[in-house]
Amino acid sequence: MATTADVVIAGAGHNSLITAAYLTAAGYECAIVDARPIPGGGATTEEMLMDDMWVDTCSTGHTLIQVNPLIRLDELGLVERYGLSYIDPDPVEVVAFPDGEALTMWLDRDKTVAEIARFSERDAGTYAQLLDEWEEVKSLVGQGRFRPVGYGPTTEELLSDHPRGDVWRRRALMSARDVILHEFEESHIRAFMGWMASQTAVPIDGAGTGLLAYQIIGGRQARSWSIPAGGSGKLIDALVGYLTDHGATIDCNRVVSELILEGGRCVGIRTEAGDEYRARHAVVSTIHVKHLVDMAPAEAWGEGFTYGVDTYHVGVPFFAAYFATTEAPAFTTHDGSRSSVSAGVAGWIDDQVRNARLVSDGHFTETEPFLLVATPTLADPSRSPEGTHTVKMVTFNAYDPGGGPERWDEIKDAHVDRQLAYLRRFAPNLTEDKIIGRLVKSPLDIERNNRHMVHGAPHGGDRGITFTGAHRPAPGWAQHRMPIEGLYQTGGTTHPGGSITGAPGRNAAIVLLEDLGRDPSEIMEMV
Ligand SMILES: Cc1cc2nc3c(=O)[nH]c(=O)nc-3n(C[C@H](O)[C@H](O)[C@H](O)COP(=O)(O)OP(=O)(O)OC[C@H]3O[C@@H](n4cnc5c(N)ncnc54)[C@H](O)[C@@H]3O)c2cc1C
Repeated sequence: MATTADVVIAGAGHNSLITAAYLTAAGYECAIVDARPIPGGGATTEEMLMDDMWVDTCSTGHTLIQVNPLIRLDELGLVERYGLSYIDPDPVEVVAFPDGEALTMWLDRDKTVAEIARFSERDAGTYAQLLDEWEEVKSLVGQGRFRPVGYGPTTEELLSDHPRGDVWRRRALMSARDVILHEFEESHIRAFMGWMASQTAVPIDGAGTGLLAYQIIGGRQARSWSIPAGGSGKLIDALVGYLTDHGATIDCNRVVSELILEGGRCVGIRTEAGDEYRARHAVVSTIHVKHLVDMAPAEAWGEGFTYGVDTYHVGVPFFAAYFATTEAPAFTTHDGSRSSVSAGVAGWIDDQVRNARLVSDGHFTETEPFLLVATPTLADPSRSPEGTHTVKMVTFNAYDPGGGPERWDEIKDAHVDRQLAYLRRFAPNLTEDKIIGRLVKSPLDIERNNRHMVHGAPHGGDRGITFTGAHRPAPGWAQHRMPIEGLYQTGGTTHPGGSITGAPGRNAAIVLLEDLGRDPSEIMEMV
C-alpha cells in the first residue's frame, strides 16, 4: 500500500496530533500513522479493567497544557467546537506522610496556608510568599516553553532582565531539594514540597531542577490538577475530530520501521508490514530518538547527533497499577477521612531523593517515598458505573528489577500487593473486598504498550539540565529539524519534554510552517 500526503506524521501522541492540527489549519494534507490500536499515546482513556469502566491508560492530570495557547486561547476551537472541557478538582491534593499525618491542599489558597500552619507558622508564610514570588516570573518561564528553542531569549536571559534576576537565575540552577531545604523548615512541609516537585519524575537533587519547587505548586494552586471531562482521551477525541474535519487521515496498528531517504532527503516512512507513506513536503516523527536513529543509515545522522542520542538518558520509569473499586481511597487526616482526585503518600525528603536517584540509576526499589493515587471518578462520575471508581497508583521503579526486564512479569503482582499494604496504612478503607478489578503495568508493560516510552519512562527522556532546552534531544538539534533534510521531530524527546503540555507539538508546527514559507502567526499567537 502506498499513501501520499503533504506531510506524513509518524506517531499519533497528543504532540504530533497537535502539530498535524496546526498544519491542517494552514491547509496541508496530513497522513498520520501509529503503532497502537488507537491514537493518543499517553493521553488515552480505555476500557482496560471492565465494561463501562473508562481508565486513563497513562496521563490523568492536564494542568500543564492549560497555559498552552492551544487551550488558553482555544486557537483551534477544541473547546468551543469539539467538546473538550476541563474539571478543576477541589481538594487539589491529600498527601499522607510516614508518621500517619496528612496535609490537604485546597484550591482556596488561604485554606492551604492554614493547613500548612498546623505544621509550621513560618512555613505557612513562606508558602504564601513562594506563590507570590512565582507570579513575578511565571510568564517568563512559560514563554520559554511555548516557543521553539532559539525563537527569542532563553529563560535565563529573560530572568536576567528581571529586577530580581540574580535571585531567580540562582534558583533556576539549584536543585529543587536545595530550594526546598533553604525555604522550608518543617519535615512534613519539606516532604510535601518534595513530593510535588517530583511529579514530573525528574530526580529533585539534580542541578537545574530548582524551578520545579515553584512551577508545579504554582500551577496546582492556581487551577488544581485539571482533568478532561470524560478522561484524558477526550483531548485526543477533540484533536481527531478537528483533524478528520480538515481532511487528515489516521491509520493505526502500523509500526513505522524505516525512513525512506532519496537523495539524502527524508521523503517518507515504511511500516513493518511494508506500507509506504510518502510526503510531498515533510515527515514529522514522534518516534523516540533512541529508535529513530536505527531507521536510517548511521552516516545520515552525523557524529554529533548520534553521540547526543547515545548519551541521552531515557529518564525515570513508571510502575502503574489500575483498580476498579467500590469506594474511593479515603485518607486519614486530622479532621476525618478524605478522598481526593489526586492524592498520595510522601516519604521524608531525604528518602524521596535517595529513591529517585536509585531508580534513575537503574536500581530496583521496594520502598515508595513517591506514591501517587489518582481517582478521577470522584470529580467525574461519568467514567464508571454508579457506585464505582477508577483508581490509578503510580510509582517509580527500575526497568530491570534484577534478572532482566521480563522478570517483572513474575513479580509485579506481589509488588503491587506490597504497595497496597503500604497504602492501607494511610487509606485503610481500600481493603481487598473493595477492589473489583485490577491491572498492573510494570515499566516493561508500559514500554510494550507504547514504544515511545522507552524502558517505561513516559516523558521522552530525562529533563535534567543536560537534556533540556538547546540540548534536547542533542546539542545543535533542538529546533525540531533533524539532521536528515525533510525530517522533523516532535514529542517528549524535544523541548520542553514530556507530560501533557502540547508544547513540543505546537513548537514543531511553528518551525515547519516557517520552513514551508508560511507565517505561523496567521493561525496561532506567537509568544
Ligand atoms: C502511568 C502514567 C501516568 C502518567 N500521568 C501523567 C499525568 O497525569 N500528566 C501528565 O502530564 N503526564 C503523565 N504521563 C506522561 C504522559 O503520558 C507523556 O509524557 C505524554 O503522553 C507524552 O506525549 P507525546 O505526545 O510526546 O508522546 P506519546 O503520548 O508517548 O505518544 C507517542 C506515540 O507515538 C507512537 N509511536 C512511537 N513509535 C512508533 C513507531 N515506530 N511507529 C508508529 N507509532 C509509533 C506511539 O504508539 C504513541 O502513540 C503519564 C505517563 C504514564 C505512563
